[in-house]
Amino acid sequence: MPGEVREVVWSAFKMEQAIYKPGFPSPLQWTVRAESEPRRRNLFCPGTVFDAVVEKVRIAGAGLAGLTAAYVLSKANRPVEVYEKKSRLLPSSGPHTEGIRNYRERDVLEELNSFGFDLPPFSTVLATIRVSPRARNVIRGPAHYLFMRGREDHTVDQILFRRAQAAGARFHFDEEIDPADADIAATGPPRDGYNILGAGYSISEAGSDLPRDTAYALFDNEVAPGGYFAITPGIGFHSMYSVSWSELDFDRLLARTEKAFDLPWIREIVGSGKRVGRILGRAYVAPDPISGAVRDGTLLVGEAGGFQDAVAGFGFRYSVITGSLAARSLMEGSDYRALLRDTFGLEFQQASAMREKMNHATNDDYDRMIGALGPEISLKEYMKRREARGF
Ligand SMILES: Cc1cc2nc3c(=O)[nH]c(=O)nc-3n(C[C@H](O)[C@H](O)[C@H](O)COP(=O)(O)OP(=O)(O)OC[C@H]3O[C@@H](n4cnc5c(N)ncnc54)[C@H](O)[C@@H]3O)c2cc1C
Repeated sequence: MPGEVREVVWSAFKMEQAIYKPGFPSPLQWTVRAESEPRRRNLFCPGTVFDAVVEKVRIAGAGLAGLTAAYVLSKANRPVEVYEKKSRLLPSSGPHTEGIRNYRERDVLEELNSFGFDLPPFSTVLATIRVSPRARNVIRGPAHYLFMRGREDHTVDQILFRRAQAAGARFHFDEEIDPADADIAATGPPRDGYNILGAGYSISEAGSDLPRDTAYALFDNEVAPGGYFAITPGIGFHSMYSVSWSELDFDRLLARTEKAFDLPWIREIVGSGKRVGRILGRAYVAPDPISGAVRDGTLLVGEAGGFQDAVAGFGFRYSVITGSLAARSLMEGSDYRALLRDTFGLEFQQASAMREKMNHATNDDYDRMIGALGPEISLKEYMKRREARGF
């Protein structure tokens, strides 16, 4: 038909997310007349075979989840527009180190690779030292992989951004959009709905004593109520901060964090290292993120959807996987929630149940929890014990 532009309107995919049931014709098999009409008012002509030009995918937010979705889509030659309300790319919590836990049978890097994330970590933690007021245990083995987040060229944020851009994704900084107008909402923890807080400092690598293969977690309610104080090595600076599920005020949590810096063993690690920045971040975990993962046809990814680790606040893996699955769902026209269910199974329920217990843990409980592992344990043995307790 001369002059007629044939294309699939992206809202068809969104509609499929909302209404498609097996046995009914999928909107993906509908050819759509776009002509000059705006995206949301296109006409659908059911019954014609899919042979279309694909419309742009709009992503709100250029955090880890949005960047992953943009990278996966653009690599597959899908047109992508990413809108980021900040004027430049930077994780909401400022530059810091992030660890991905490697506590499953399948290596987590291999798992992330299967979702299109192939960045190498800058280091592998081989000694994870967990400390409570009266106990200490070392997990020996590759328990965490480390990545830098921030504005430097070597950080995950900048590498993914450059790759997505090189593959054709277009970024619009200083542009806030309504997540409901996006195909993928990757807007991070809701401003007023967060339920985990992180607060602490980055400490210069120079002068401090923290090998790149060693990380610490201190379990002490005085320092990190219902959470833990993390020490992770970095490139140029290390990250030292408290994560809490019950102290949700930055100033009060920072004041608690100071108590950690008074402990002799932490003073030794810091040495003459200097505080070079503050780490202040919010996070949001939903008890059942999968059921709320599609809102009015928009796919929620990362912390916008509450995809977080309820036990440790480790959202990196979830941001990458949900960003990638949302991209796949749009490309294949498959059901996003079904993909999530297949991938995560009962993970979120198990983590929530564990979090319930952790919320009531006293320092004595932490002593028992860590003391029970003995002074040293292999990662393999630790994983066996985790499996036995359900998470
Ligand atoms: C201090 C700290 C330490 C952490 N450490 C670890 C760790 O060691 N391991 C781990 O696995 N996880 C860790 N996490 C969690 C992990 O960083 C997050 O789960 C993950 O980065 C969330 O990514 P996201 O893309 O969902 O959200 P965000 O990174 O928050 O990105 C959302 C983006 O959307 C933008 N935005 C918001 N609204 C709009 C809008 N309307 N329009 C346009 N743009 C918008 C924001 O400006 C932001 O850039 C840590 C988190 C914090 C705070």
